[in-house]
Order: sequence, then C-alpha cells, then structure tokens
Amino acid sequence: MARPMIVIVCNVEGYADSDRSPALGAEGWAYKQGIGSLYAEAVWEAGGVPTLLPCLGEAEMVAEMLGRADGLLITGGADVAPLDYGAEPSPHLGGANPVRDATDRAAVAYAEANPDLPVLGICRGIQSYNAYAGGTLIQDIPSEVKGAIQHSQKSPSTLGTHTLHIVEPESKTAAILGPSPIAVNSFHHQAVATPAPGMLVTARASDRVVEAMERPGHKWCVLVQWHPEHMFRRDERQRELFEGFVAAAES
Ligand code: MN
Repeated sequence: MARPMIVIVCNVEGYADSDRSPALGAEGWAYKQGIGSLYAEAVWEAGGVPTLLPCLGEAEMVAEMLGRADGLLITGGADVAPLDYGAEPSPHLGGANPVRDATDRAAVAYAEANPDLPVLGICRGIQSYNAYAGGTLIQDIPSEVKGAIQHSQKSPSTLGTHTLHIVEPESKTAAILGPSPIAVNSFHHQAVATPAPGMLVTARASDRVVEAMERPGHKWCVLVQWHPEHMFRRDERQRELFEGFVAAAES
C-alpha cells in the first residue's frame, strides 16, 4: 500500500535581511529555502512519504498541494509578524518573514476549511496556526512572562530540558505522551498567548507557557511547541507523536 503523502512546509533562510524577493516585486533574485532533514526523516520513519511545499506565499499553490496531500506538517521558523494578529512589535521581536507568513497563513486557512486533513504543527507551527486561526502570541517570553523558565536551551537538541504538564487528560496529546511530567527540548522565544477560538490547550510548561494544543472537531490536529523531530530516535513517546500523525493521514 502506498505511504500517505505528508506535505512539509519549507522555511526561508536569510530572507529577512533583504527586500529583493520575487514576492515583493523585484526580479532576478532567488532566495533559499528548505527544511532540517530530521523533519523528513521522522515522517519517513513513521511511515509517511515526505514532500516539500515550496515557501512562495502562493495561496493557490498551497491549496493545490494540500488537496493532494494526506497530511500537513508546519515546521519551525522565524517569528510571526505581530500586525497579523493585531499587535504592535515588541522591542524583542525577531525578524519576521512575509513569504513564510503568507505560506503558513494559506496552509492554516486550508486546514481550517478541511478538518479531515491531519495536521502536525511544530514550534513556529503551533504559533502560526494559532495566529492565523484567530489567536495571539507572546512575542518574547523572557520580557513578557514573569518567572519564565529557559525556553531557549543551550544544551543539545536531543535533550529534554524542561518539563511539560498535561492539562487535558482526555486529549490526543495525553494519550500519546503519557503521564506528566514529560521532558522536552525547547528552542523558542515566542509562544501562544490567547488561544484561537475553539482551540484546546493540552499541555503547559511549569511557567504556564503553552506547549501543546489540539483542534477539537478536526480529525487529527496536534500542535506542539517543542521539536519532537530532534528527540524521536531517543524517546519512544516522541516517535509515537509522528506515528500517530502518519496513522491519521493513512486512514
Ligand atoms: Mn518550551
């Protein structure tokens, strides 16, 4: 039987320093994009066939690809532009990327209109999904969250460095990850502030920062703030997160 096709959103690298992008009207300049190989390795080892979605900000192309896809993986990347969720930029905001933002916005719009499409959001993926589904973000955890723990770890990415705590025992997150506390890695300075309407927060860090959410009413939509693709070879529960995603895409 054919493996389910998992579309992985590419990220744009080094774009924020230049305005010479085709998407902004200039010609003759190409920007680089891609994914960390571990996203594709995790999808492949979980039974899916990884397929890369070029990050061009073309909503029609996103819909064409997702119309053929069995699952959508929204990857990590730059900060989400705060004007998109009605906020002014914090002095601690990182560089946003309009092409990546437009691509994620189109992917989230498609997923919201097609709740049978399984979605796994990772890191920026939980943030952009939340922002484009009507929620808001913390732009910079250290300056906005009182008593925040370290969410930008200096340790190797395969190591879990802070705990997360399941707050919805009946959720898919709980079924996959098992009993709290669970140690996860952490490479983010942004996070979910106000969840999008109807979104279910399923896990939090010890400082209450949102670490996982789900979309009730969707077939399988799990959004996580950590990077399970860096942990799945050492942590069976993180492997099961990808396997649950691909199994939903297969059915
Ligand atoms: Mn974290």
